[in-house]
Amino acid sequence: MPPPMSIGVSHPAYEKIINGQTHRGQVPVMGRLRLAELMPIMDLDNSVQGVLAVDVGWVDDLIIARDELRNQSILVACIILIVEALLGAAYISYALRPIRVLAKYAEDMGSEKNLGSVPFIGQSDEVGTLSEGLNHVVDLQVKLAHLAYTDDLTGLGNRSRYFADLQVALRNSQSAIESWALLHLNIDKFGHINDAYGQEMGDQILKRIGARIKQVAGNQAKVARPSAANFIIIIDNRLATDEITVLAQNLIESMRKGFHTPVGEISITGSMGVIDVLKGFDDPEVVHLNASLALRKAQRAGGDQYAIFSSELNDEYQERVTLIKMLEMAIENRELEIHFQPQVILSSNKLSGLEALARWKHPILGQIPPAKFIPIAEDGGQIVKLGTLIIDMACQQAAQWRKEKFDFKHIAVNVSPIQLWQDNFIDVLSASLKRYKLPANCICIEITESVFIDHTKHKTLRVLELIRSLGVMLSLDDFGSGYSSLSYLNNMPFDQVKIDRSFVTNIDTDDRKKKVMRGILSLTTELDFKIIIEGTETIEEIMMVQEMGCDVVQGYYHAKPVPADLIRGVVDKISKSVLAINAKL
Ligand code: C2E
Ligand code: MG
Ligand code: MG
Repeated sequence: MPPPMSIGVSHPAYEKIINGQTHRGQVPVMGRLRLAELMPIMDLDNSVQGVLAVDVGWVDDLIIARDELRNQSILVACIILIVEALLGAAYISYALRPIRVLAKYAEDMGSEKNLGSVPFIGQSDEVGTLSEGLNHVVDLQVKLAHLAYTDDLTGLGNRSRYFADLQVALRNSQSAIESWALLHLNIDKFGHINDAYGQEMGDQILKRIGARIKQVAGNQAKVARPSAANFIIIIDNRLATDEITVLAQNLIESMRKGFHTPVGEISITGSMGVIDVLKGFDDPEVVHLNASLALRKAQRAGGDQYAIFSSELNDEYQERVTLIKMLEMAIENRELEIHFQPQVILSSNKLSGLEALARWKHPILGQIPPAKFIPIAEDGGQIVKLGTLIIDMACQQAAQWRKEKFDFKHIAVNVSPIQLWQDNFIDVLSASLKRYKLPANCICIEITESVFIDHTKHKTLRVLELIRSLGVMLSLDDFGSGYSSLSYLNNMPFDQVKIDRSFVTNIDTDDRKKKVMRGILSLTTELDFKIIIEGTETIEEIMMVQEMGCDVVQGYYHAKPVPADLIRGVVDKISKSVLAINAKL
């Protein structure tokens, strides 16, 4: 019989107890489980009389106690780990500090900051060795920066230095209320110095110009020579506008002082574009362009002066850019035309020749005068294409008139000095003559006096002689209006001189003009040039110059320039007016 105990048949201890074995495990007591060691109590017959239970405790309490203990252990372990990690990190951070400092130093080397000497130099450990290495790099960087940012000749900044300084000035002006100014100085016609005294002397002068600019602009100014005879002065501290203009004026004046050299006194002048700004610019290229616009204004006004950039200047520039694009298209599409103006022999009222004058009629803007589009084409780089087109059209027209037996004598074509200096000018001219099978004397090339300005006598002479060697006539246009050098007149192979309109306007009433004209005529006839007087508008002017011995004129009195298909009518009319003039005479 099983003993009467709370352990029933189904309990895992039951079997063991019945068989006299002990059991360790959970015992249900009052609906909960207790952990106990159960030992059977046996009588002498070895039958189970009861169970001795050594109670350990409630199982769930034990589990809670165990879990709590485990959690606490985990927490303690975590705390130990974190503390250890923090200590480790702090130690690593401390140990790596020199490396971090050096790395930051290396990183900052790329910036414009003054970093001072490399830290930890002289330390006898690995950090010291690393600093040594970095120090070598710094030395190298200083040398490279010097090479990369310095103009060899003058020791001033070069183009890269200029743009880097400009960038910094722009950045500062964005972040602080700091004004800055940029002065772009160009030495007027510096090529002459090289041509006249040689490159070496030119270099010496540029060097001395650089030193003079530094002296006048002061230590605060950043001075660079980005190219040939161009100097940039950046002032990025706060100077009032009138101080900037005083500085600009001083710089211009300092250029006029000239330079004593072993070959004598060399004089120069400079032109300058000035930008004086508080804020509002952020693109260095735009700033450079605007300074160049102001510089161009100063140069166009004759040089030896400064001009300040204004927004109107920018508007003008935008208009020019638009015109340049339109002109480019007009040239491409052969939309330009030529009008012809007769050159008239007064004694016979016959034709001496025709001048070809370019005309551009824009579909929207209407007629744009050559006085406007020729300088634009010269500035914008289209003049060579334009000139080539005009030469070709003039030759085509000449061939056409020859076919029609119209005796036009010659067509005078205006050629810009820029085109004349192209290496292929002679080829272009002779190719057009060949294309239309024209005798060379059908064409006369008109060149203004400005051709003498930028080149040596020798070079000019060579080009003009090449033109003459083709058999093409040469005419000196606008004589007396610009750079009239009598020595040029004497040496250059011109067939004809065209006396500028300014000498003939109102000559009949202006005694001084009469005297000047007499002088010019006696000089030019003495030198055996054919003479044309341009711009004769009234019969009185014509009578006056004819009386002075001039027989060929070109002016509105006889005819304004007209399209090719009207020219024969105009010429007929002129030939019939012979009696009218003679009657007045
Ligand atoms: P230019 O070669 O001295 O041409 C004479 C200019 O004076 C022409 O002006 C002509 O129309 C004008 N003219 C002629 N007679 C009189 C007159 O009695 N009174 C007045 N007030 N003016 C007169 P245009 O056609 O406007 O040409 C102006 C200038 O543009 C030319 O001066 C020439 O330097 C340049 N040009 C014209 N066509 C060409 C060309 O195809 N190529 C180049 N490079 N320049 C050209
Ligand atoms: Mg002309
Ligand atoms: Mg002229």
